[in-house]
Amino acid sequence: MPSSIARNSCSSLWRALSKIWEALLSNVAWSLGNGHSVNFLTDTWVPALGPLGDYARDSLDATNHVSFGSVLTDDGEWDVAKLAMIFTDDALPYILGVKPPSPQDGPDRCIWRWTNHHGFELKSAYDRCAPPILENTDPLWNQIWKLQVPQRIRCFLWLASRQKLMTNLHRYRRTLTDDPFCPLCQEAEESIIHTLRDCACLQQVWRYIVPPSLAGSFFSNSIKVWLRQNLCSNILFHNSIPWKLVFASILWQFWKSRNDVVFAGDSASVECTLS
Ligand SMILES: [Zn+2]
Repeated sequence: MPSSIARNSCSSLWRALSKIWEALLSNVAWSLGNGHSVNFLTDTWVPALGPLGDYARDSLDATNHVSFGSVLTDDGEWDVAKLAMIFTDDALPYILGVKPPSPQDGPDRCIWRWTNHHGFELKSAYDRCAPPILENTDPLWNQIWKLQVPQRIRCFLWLASRQKLMTNLHRYRRTLTDDPFCPLCQEAEESIIHTLRDCACLQQVWRYIVPPSLAGSFFSNSIKVWLRQNLCSNILFHNSIPWKLVFASILWQFWKSRNDVVFAGDSASVECTLS
């Protein structure tokens, strides 16, 4: 059996998994059957703990060979006294909560660590992998989700704030298009800030409409500061409508118009859409 497979002979699924292999391994565990496939110290078979080598007492020499066979009694139960000699007190209850391996139990199985039923769930994967950076800490996060606009606009703003909008530049990097340029001006790569603010076609609109008190750094702030400054603003537009609602609506119209041009071949200008 070959120990590796040529990259070009793998399916796209396996190629994608190979890129996140270390992260994947840290989220799966073994469900013990006969224990033959599992390394006692370096594999995860106690889902709540991870590899047990991290819980060994200092007295355990790294070269000591610890196997399932060495910590089971003749009856096939855990040998609590031996386990207590090897592992720290906080780890012991978790280890004892796992059914010992048995020859009658068949092969070991791979399981997802973070659900009670040990099947994969996207939500649990997201909860484990997403960095806890925006929720409850970033005022922009809270502001976006309580903005009085339709939910689809909130989702769009959230994607923009996370730099996840699929502009031509992002599509080009993912080989979804061979054209990274802006469909409106054709003069620059279509980054997110370009498609929402910096495109020459849009700047005319912004310069016409931005309140004077926000105009100073409007075109120089980073996208995150720019979104925060405008979406968290309490300024009223024409003394009547909250500027943050006007700003969010214009961004949404820009994005919709841009999508019409890219995906529907619509040549209508952004200014026409806004009029
Ligand atoms: Zn442009």
